[in-house]
Formats: sequence, structure tokens, C-alpha cells
Amino acid sequence: MRLILLGPPGAGKGTQAQRLVGKHGIVQLSTGDMLRAAASAGTPVGLRAKAIMDRGDLVPDDVMIEIIADRIDQPDTANGFILDGFPRTVDQAKALDRLLDERGLGIDRIIEIVVDHEVLRERIAGRARETGGSRADDTEATVAKRLDVYRRQTAPVAEYYRQRGVLKPVDGMGTVEEVAARIDESLRAGTDA
Ligand code: AMP
Repeated sequence: MRLILLGPPGAGKGTQAQRLVGKHGIVQLSTGDMLRAAASAGTPVGLRAKAIMDRGDLVPDDVMIEIIADRIDQPDTANGFILDGFPRTVDQAKALDRLLDERGLGIDRIIEIVVDHEVLRERIAGRARETGGSRADDTEATVAKRLDVYRRQTAPVAEYYRQRGVLKPVDGMGTVEEVAARIDESLRAGTDA
């Protein structure tokens, strides 16, 4: 099974992705995690990305597309994957279409976790408190920036898929379990539901 999880920062993509990984035996491809790992390893790409991430901006499309193309080609994706944090721009979405076409692969579901932006601000502030601010981009100013970047650059990705009739919006309000149940239901339902 190959899935894409869309949704603003703090919508719970990472948490839901981890659960789906366990349930379906697929791998989670989180571009945020990959960039953070590259940054802590001190690779040139990682160090460049860190400055951009700390500001709440997006890492350039060509860098992201290369990272994801390499990752999709790893053998552990054979059983399927869940994209968490990619694509984040319409150009990334178009590049992903091409990448998958070239490999003869399709996407089974594209799920958008829909959450009110005010609630997100509070959730991310809570995450910052819980993790002791271990994510440098979980500060109030950066969160506002990331939500703004989401509205301008990533919301059009959901629209791109919606127009093609392949987007499944899921209400992201409520507990992790409630949202998980809605995602499971949406995975069971037909694509044209
Ligand atoms: P995340 O963990 O998904 O919230 O990502 C953290 C940060 O990594 C984002 O705010 C961006 O700076 C960067 N990032 C992650 N995925 C992408 C992507 N697909 N395109 C551009 N930047 C990304």
C-alpha cells in the first residue's frame, strides 16, 4: 500500500503515519525526519537545510525531489510506503507523479488531515513544551511562519489532488484514536466515496 498524508504542521501526520506503519507493514517516509537526520549528521545538504528549517521556510524543490527519489528506490519500500511531509509544493507533487510513473507505481490513497489553524498553534506550542523545545522550529514565531508557508505553498497541493478526484479529506479534530478511526474508514472506503 502506498499512501500520502497531507496536512498542516501539528495536524498529527507523524503520529498517524507511525500507526499506519505498524498496522500495514509499510515504511514511513518523513522528509522532515530525513532532513533532521542529515542536519545532525552534519552533511552539506543537512547543514544547508537546517538553516532553512529553523526559519520555517521550505527546502528547495530540487533537493527534496532528489532525496525522495533516492528513498523510494530503497528495497525496504517494496511493501509500500507512507509519505509524510512530501509533497509540500505543487511542483513536488508533479515531480512525484513523474517519479512514480517512471517506476510503474501508483498511490492508493491521498489523505488530507483537516485541522483548524488556531488549534494547530496550540498543539504545536504543547509539543514544544512536552519535548522541551527539542525541535528548533517549534517556536511561536516559526510556527506562525510554517502555517503561513503551508497556506501559501502546500494548501495548493491538496487542491491539485482534489481537482483530480483523488483526495480524501479526513477530519483531524479530536483524539489521536478518533482521527485514526476516520483514517482507517477512509482507507476501507472506495476512492470515489
Ligand atoms: P516536518 O517535520 O514535516 O514538519 O518538516 C520540518 C521542516 O523540514 C519543514 O518546515 C521544512 O523546512 C522542511 N521540509 C520537510 N519536508 C519538506 C518538503 N517536502 N519540502 C520542503 N521542505 C521540507
